[in-house]
Amino acid sequence: MTLLLACVFVLLHASAIFLLPAFAMQVSYVFLLSAPLVAAAAAVRRGMHEGWRASRGWLLMALGMVSWALGMLASLRQDLFLDNANAAPGDSTLLFVLYGVPILLAISASYVEGESLLVRAIDTLLALALSYLFYVHVFSVVTLQGASSRVQAEYMATMLDAENLFVLLASAIRFSASDRRHEFQFYRAVVTFVGIYTVVTAYYNHFIALGDHPGFGSLRDPLLGVPFLAFALAAWREGDHAPRRPSPTLVRMVRSGSPLLMALALLVLSIVVLQERFYVGVTGIVVAVLGYGARSTLTQAQHIKNEEGLRRRSDELATMAHTDSLTGLPNRRALDEALERAWYRPGVIRDRVTLLMIDIDYFKQLNDTYGHQAGDACLKRIAEALKNVLGRQGDLLGRYGGEEFALVMRGAPLQAGLVVAERLRQTVEALAIEHSRSPHGVVTISVGVSSAMAGLRPLDLLIAQADSALYQSKRNGRNRITAVDD
Ligand code: GH3
Ligand code: MG
Ligand code: MG
Repeated sequence: MTLLLACVFVLLHASAIFLLPAFAMQVSYVFLLSAPLVAAAAAVRRGMHEGWRASRGWLLMALGMVSWALGMLASLRQDLFLDNANAAPGDSTLLFVLYGVPILLAISASYVEGESLLVRAIDTLLALALSYLFYVHVFSVVTLQGASSRVQAEYMATMLDAENLFVLLASAIRFSASDRRHEFQFYRAVVTFVGIYTVVTAYYNHFIALGDHPGFGSLRDPLLGVPFLAFALAAWREGDHAPRRPSPTLVRMVRSGSPLLMALALLVLSIVVLQERFYVGVTGIVVAVLGYGARSTLTQAQHIKNEEGLRRRSDELATMAHTDSLTGLPNRRALDEALERAWYRPGVIRDRVTLLMIDIDYFKQLNDTYGHQAGDACLKRIAEALKNVLGRQGDLLGRYGGEEFALVMRGAPLQAGLVVAERLRQTVEALAIEHSRSPHGVVTISVGVSSAMAGLRPLDLLIAQADSALYQSKRNGRNRITAVDD
């Protein structure tokens, strides 16, 4: 439907020129003013649809289109009101040149998460410097009236070609490295527009304006509207084309390197201007280099800040992954890792490892009698009490699962394990947490202790021995300690 409307637009333009030869120029102005405005409107509409972040590019594109429409308006004033038929009057030529600056700004800027406003200010400053240099350069070649010789007019057309090719190349690079849906669609619209525009204006400027038909009103004028209509179509259609998967390295390189495009454009133009206005050219070079340098420094600083945030977050996650949320003790994963570390220590003289398996007695009955919340509170109190008893470096107490805890004692003999186990048992008993269904009247623990030289036998055996010792403590009446030595 929209494609049909675009075709109708082009056909109307052509037939109006054909049917009203006396007003061919006026007709062309109407259509050539409307086309970029339609494109600008489509870009603004699209920008409103996309989020705040993505809208920026579309709005800059709209600005480029408006600049081109203003160029057309200036040309209309020269042609119809000032009776100036020169092909390259300074004002309209400058506006046609400036259309590319917002587009370049849109495709050269790539923003980093949480970046400061200063970076945007620098980008804008570079764009303004580029615009000023274009102004200086255009008016050093032509006057407000236009080019005074064919050579100058041809130079202007060639400069436009060069600018278009630069913008085309830049947008093609961004397009080839866009991996997100909105980026992909945006750069596809830009490449479509700039690609068609480059070809059409090169043909129009060299073969029509500088060829057989210097003023508007030729039957080939409708060609000039085509890139704008193509852009309007691309902006209008939101399509859900899945982006290709460009290589992540390419994406990173292009995204971080793209700000160079604006600096590069400024640098090249400054060198051109240097020949006619030395100090302006030098200032342009300085602005390009300093601006790019300052921008890089700011983004680099932001990257470092983001990285620090990520590292902090990853540390927090690692801690969380190793902590039991109810008791705050190290969890099963942490215990397993600690055991592995204690057991397999390459290059270290073999050490003894003593393991305590601790299990709360009659805990199911506690839950059944007092409720699960009371059970949880009891688990927390016991965890806290057990933790407070320990203080030796090399001990790691954790929640092994359910109502079971484990203590890994690196470099401690069985005897030390037994002493600690007894202290833990007494501590829990001394808490005197009421348990009417336990023969002891209070909550108690049973402990199984095993001990072995690290690494000599499978680690599983140490665990199995502690487990079977615990089982014996249970069988023998609970609230007691049993040990198994190698
Ligand atoms: P024993 O003296 O032989 O150890 O008997 P027990 O009842 O303590 O052992 P059993 O394995 O039969 O039951 C363990 C109970 O622990 C069952 C389960 O509902 C309870 N439990 C496990 N994890 C939690 C928890 O996080 N909160 C609460 N409230 N209860 C838990
Ligand atoms: Mg148990
Ligand atoms: Mg139990």
